[in-house]
Amino acid sequence: MVSESQNCRKTPALPFAVGKMAMLIGVLALQGDFYEHCLVLRRLGVEPREVRLPEHLQGLSGLIIPGGESTTLGKLSNTYRLTKPLREIAGSIPVWGTCAGLVFMAKDVGADQPILGILDMVVQRNAFGRQVDSFEEDIDIKGLEGGPFHGVFIRAPVITEIGPRIEVLCRLKDGRVVAVRQGRLIATSFHPELTNDPRFHKYFLSLVDSPS
Ligand code: GLN
Repeated sequence: MVSESQNCRKTPALPFAVGKMAMLIGVLALQGDFYEHCLVLRRLGVEPREVRLPEHLQGLSGLIIPGGESTTLGKLSNTYRLTKPLREIAGSIPVWGTCAGLVFMAKDVGADQPILGILDMVVQRNAFGRQVDSFEEDIDIKGLEGGPFHGVFIRAPVITEIGPRIEVLCRLKDGRVVAVRQGRLIATSFHPELTNDPRFHKYFLSLVDSPS
């Protein structure tokens, strides 16, 4: 049995709910920091559902693929027969990948590992170096009001090539692309769920109501 503290559906909702109780947002919970995404969703008054099996995708309004380790994520996704249903659902509902989730969504990661291939982009993994080269930097994100966003980059990837359907949402000062959107699919190299700022999660939730 999952203990109460382990189950994101039981985490306390914090005061500034935005009245999105009807939304059911899935968080892929195979590996990585899915719990932190669940906490932010709860804080926004949204019901998260941990997704571990294909049937957990039914009835979702949106899906978040968390950070972690993309090779492990891909292998577990194959093991639990999620890869094909994830490809099929992408776009019919908004999907957002953070860090390893971004890698998993890409079309090409320059290595032989299981990926969804749903975002028309090439990704370089661990583009800033090793774990000790992780960093935090304030970044400007297109479409996000309220000033710069605190970007947390942990052994982060960068997007090195983008296809014509991809819109760049954020570049670092040196021009490297770290956030993109392709219709209702979005991906960030950084981890908004590890900050106290729920604006990016609100931005994602706004896609649920937007036309596909
Ligand atoms: N370096 C990891 C990968 O390529 C991603 C790290 C993360 O999600 N913070 O899978």
